Amino acid sequence: MREPNFYAHPGFERAGLRRREPEWIRDRMLDRESLFVPVWRSQSLVLEVEGGEPQAVILGAESVAMLLGSSDSEAEEWLAHGRVVFLGLIDDRAHFALDLSAHDAPLDTLRSPTFAAAGIATTGLRFGDLRQFGGRLARQEGALLALARAMAFWHSRHRFCGVCGAPTRSEEAGHVRRCTESGCATMHFPRTDPAVIMLVTDGDRVLLGRNKNFLPGMYSTLAGFVEPGESLEDAVAREVREETAIEVGAVHYHSSQPWPFPANIMLGFYAEAASTAITVDYSELEDARWFEREWLLSHVDDDNFRMPRRDSIARRLIEDWLAGSGS
Ligand SMILES: [Zn+2]
Repeated sequence: MREPNFYAHPGFERAGLRRREPEWIRDRMLDRESLFVPVWRSQSLVLEVEGGEPQAVILGAESVAMLLGSSDSEAEEWLAHGRVVFLGLIDDRAHFALDLSAHDAPLDTLRSPTFAAAGIATTGLRFGDLRQFGGRLARQEGALLALARAMAFWHSRHRFCGVCGAPTRSEEAGHVRRCTESGCATMHFPRTDPAVIMLVTDGDRVLLGRNKNFLPGMYSTLAGFVEPGESLEDAVAREVREETAIEVGAVHYHSSQPWPFPANIMLGFYAEAASTAITVDYSELEDARWFEREWLLSHVDDDNFRMPRRDSIARRLIEDWLAGSGS
C-alpha cells in the first residue's frame, strides 16, 4: 500500500459523534488524561534541541489546568469562543486544540503554572510556522499540529456571520459556528478549499515550473485553485494551459494531501501532455521547462535546480514518477 502523504493519516479517531455530547466534551476538557495542542496566531509549539530533530509539544492537562479553570462554566466559555476544539482520540485519550492567540506572550502564559511541573524543559521551546519544520516532525505529530492549526485559523476568520453580520458562537466542540442572531441562526462549517496539483508528463520528461517566491533554484509541479462549477480534471487542464500554454489529455488521480496553510486540500494528479511548446505566463511563473527523467535522477539539489520540499505532495508526485510508479 502507498505510504500516506505528510499531514494525512494522523493515527487518531476523530470521534465525530462525541462532538454532539457537550457534557462528555466538558468532562474530557477537565480530565487529567486529556492532551492539548497549543496554537498561537497560526503558529505551533515546538521543542528544538541543538543537533536533534524538532518535536511537537503537546501539553498534558496539568500544564493548562490553571489557564482553563476547573468549572464547567469556564470550560464552556473556552468552547463557545472556539479557543478549545476537540480534535479526536488517540488510545482513548481526548486531544484538543488550544488557541492562545488572545495572549501576547503565550510562552509566559503557559509557564504559569509552569512547564516544569509537567516535566517540560523551556529552553528550545518556541512557537513557529509548521511549514518551516513540519517535514521533520514525526508524521502523526505533523498531522495533529496541522489539524489544530487549521481549526484555529477557521475560528479566527469566522467570528461573525457572513449572512447577517452578527457574532457567531462555536458549537459541537468547535466543529460548527452558529450565528447568535435568533432570526438568522445560520450554521457555518469549517472550510477546506480544494486545489489541484499536477505533474504533466510527456514520455520520459516532465514539466516543472518556478514561482518567483520559491527558494533559489526550486522547481515544482504546477498547481492552482479549483473554481466554482469546475471539475477537477477541467481545473488541471485550465491551470496548465493558463500557466504554460500546454494542452493536456488524460488526467489520472494520484493522492491527496491536507495543506492547512491556511485551509487547503491538495488533490494530486498526473496529466499527459497533448502539446509540448511552452509559453510561460510570467504573471504566475518565473520559468517552466521540461526535465528529463535521467537528468532528474542524477542531479543533486543546488541553487540552479532543487526539488520541492520533502513534505509536499509535489515532491511525492515527482519521486513516484521517477521511481516508475507514476503514469
Ligand atoms: Zn447570521
